[in-house]
Amino acid sequence: MKLTVGLTTSDLKRLSHGSLRFRTSTQARLYQTALPGTAGTRLGALVDSSSRKELATAPAGANISIGCVAGGGFTVSVGARKINIPAGNILFIDPGLGTGTLSSLSFTRAGAKGKGSPSYRGAIAVYSGTDAAGGLRAALILDIDDYLRGVLQSEIPASYHIEAIKAQAVAARTYALNPRVDHGPDRVNVCDSYLCCQYFGGLNTNLAGSHRTAIDATSHQILTYDGAPILALFSSNAGGHTENFENCFSDIRTNQFPPQAVPYLRGVSEAFHPSSLVAGQAGTEKYLRTLYSSGVPPTADAWSHHFKWHVSISAAQLEAHLHNTAAKMLAAAETAPFVIPPASAKFGHILDISVDKRGVSGSAIELSIKTRSGEWKVKKELVIRDFFAIPKSSIKRLKSARFVIDITRTGAGLISSINLKGLGWGHGVGMQQTGAQGWAKAGRDYRQILAHYYQGTKIERA
Ligand SMILES: [Zn+2]
Repeated sequence: MKLTVGLTTSDLKRLSHGSLRFRTSTQARLYQTALPGTAGTRLGALVDSSSRKELATAPAGANISIGCVAGGGFTVSVGARKINIPAGNILFIDPGLGTGTLSSLSFTRAGAKGKGSPSYRGAIAVYSGTDAAGGLRAALILDIDDYLRGVLQSEIPASYHIEAIKAQAVAARTYALNPRVDHGPDRVNVCDSYLCCQYFGGLNTNLAGSHRTAIDATSHQILTYDGAPILALFSSNAGGHTENFENCFSDIRTNQFPPQAVPYLRGVSEAFHPSSLVAGQAGTEKYLRTLYSSGVPPTADAWSHHFKWHVSISAAQLEAHLHNTAAKMLAAAETAPFVIPPASAKFGHILDISVDKRGVSGSAIELSIKTRSGEWKVKKELVIRDFFAIPKSSIKRLKSARFVIDITRTGAGLISSINLKGLGWGHGVGMQQTGAQGWAKAGRDYRQILAHYYQGTKIERA
């Protein structure tokens, strides 16, 4: 199956490029074809279109430069030849099947060979952006398993158990077909940035043996629910229990929180035995404290050094920064809906901080901060994690929202410091990689692992 991957700018933040430049390692053919009127159409379906018009051939080693022109069209230059591509058309640069690669000379990737210039195997489609961002778009069209060869190394260590890596391969392959951000309007399945989707750095000639084996052994397998690819969210460490989707994420289109629940993204216990101490009491502060204080509890993920964390914030740091953070979050469009100020709209001297509402894993859903000017509420997992980050200090975004708060006070009752004791790393929804490793080592295969984290789903061929 062909996948269409949007290639982002060097900062991984935008799909809109001012100009593009590629070098082809083998002879490449340049085609033009009409851009379909329907925005949802992925370009991968068009690469072999019979209505395409051949424009030129670029010899091996040639540079292919593309620049915007007014009115939505663009130009492509190969050597001394310059061709106009009118608005409403796509340019395909196709080095053909085999070992040919296209390397970017206009945008870079950290860690790529050849001075940060990433190489791609597959055809590249170039077209004009029709949304407000405009500019030129570049999309790579390649086999879904070739895509995975570029993704897997950034997602899971090659030293993990093969069944855990296989589970990750199926989850990452599924995610590419149904990422959380709908890239239909961009005419791609997925983008290559970890800021938005999952990181794809291009051709990887040094793929570890275990990664290769996992991709081949699960070739073209994806997870489905009701016949469609699932939203295969995953994270690093869930701290003993995974979380329900609606307790962590807002609706991507409406920003509504909580959003509609997702039937297969339900929190599950990571306890090895249902009768153990930590089973059956999830979601409470007491449960988090039990896990935090019990050495290495009997869960699939407790072996990881990401299982527990601790952050201590002094009263001076709290007072100096929390009011700024609250004001910034209230002013920013993406966080404003999740910060509720008091009637005074002021952030006064802090009197108390507490978690008012938790999800099934104990993940904080709602935080309240009592100040002399009234009570502030902060909602949603990532917003809560960012709320405690202190600029220019070692205190970054919290590793998770699964934490308990211990406040120490002076004799006069004023806060002298707050201590956050936390579990896990990441949102904890769907599969957790360290848990997958724990279950694999305990003898479960990748199908059992995936059925545990994504309940009620099937494995089908993409
Ligand atoms: Zn994306």
